[in-house]
Amino acid sequence: MHRSEITIDLGAIRHNARRLLEALDGAELWAVVKANGYGHGASEAARAALEAGASLLCVATVSEGIALRRDHPDARILVMCPGDPAEAREARLELVVSGGGKIPREVPVHLKLDTGMGRWGLSELPQPTSNVVGLMSHLATADSDPAFARQQLERFREATEPYAHLTRHIANSAAALRLPDARFGAARCGIALYGISPFDTDPAEDGLRPVLSWRSRLAQVRLLQPGESTGYGRRFVAERPTWIGIVPVGYADGFRRDMTGTEVLVDGEAHRTVGTVSMDAVAVELDRKLPVGTPVTIVGDGLLIERHADAAGTIGYEIACGINSGAGRARRVVVG
Ligand SMILES: *Cc1c(COP(=O)(O)O)cnc(C)c1O
Repeated sequence: MHRSEITIDLGAIRHNARRLLEALDGAELWAVVKANGYGHGASEAARAALEAGASLLCVATVSEGIALRRDHPDARILVMCPGDPAEAREARLELVVSGGGKIPREVPVHLKLDTGMGRWGLSELPQPTSNVVGLMSHLATADSDPAFARQQLERFREATEPYAHLTRHIANSAAALRLPDARFGAARCGIALYGISPFDTDPAEDGLRPVLSWRSRLAQVRLLQPGESTGYGRRFVAERPTWIGIVPVGYADGFRRDMTGTEVLVDGEAHRTVGTVSMDAVAVELDRKLPVGTPVTIVGDGLLIERHADAAGTIGYEIACGINSGAGRARRVVVG
């Protein structure tokens, strides 16, 4: 038996892509599949998004672009962080230019203007050369402060107005869903494609369906007597006779140490995790003796990644990117 299994539902990605296209009302959907598709698998996520109508794939690095090119010979692929133009040209990638100096001529280029993110981006837009195909910027607060986002949109609109014939793009998922002014020609959407809420709420509120589920089983069940503990550091000590189950999933699989206390579903019922999460295991408090092999859902069946993010004091993005289905860890199954 595998220690745990991650299921990726490509039908849910197609649904989310269609939902975004509907919200975008005519603007193009560009699917962000950087960081191995936020832990979901870049190549398959890209395929599902393209099937549902996405017209370009965004990655962070040239290496990610080269890997994606193998499975997607005809797709437009945009690299959003600085990269080597010669390498990009070889793999027919498009590049973002976000710093000063000459605009490379080898590849199609998107000029990135800083309108308030204060990270990558040019402070002034140079005269676009003939190989510039897009003008872009990135929003710092689309999920949290629409007033600041509107200021950024205004700066972007003003600076790019003379070049409205180029594809202008500034929206991420949050803006695509809730800021109609941010649409312009295209939107670069990642998190919403995976059915995770950019607002840390229930994704169903925005018509999105979770894509990833993660299941395991109880591998060991034992009774702790009062004063006995489970795990490193004895951070959980039983006060009364307590049944605990050991789930063979730990921080090396992406079940982070700071997720201690988060709930998982044991045979469909919510139970809290207790003690220190180890590299390869986590303990769950049970209310009775259950058989070894009882199903445990870590994500799915209504239990959202967002709730684990809350427990860990982070965002769904970081939990998803950290799930490790590499060799010898969770088995990955793609459906739909
Ligand atoms: C990651 C990224 C996005 C996608 O953001 P989501 O919130 O996941 O939709 C868009 N634009 C840039 C520049 C990014 O780095």
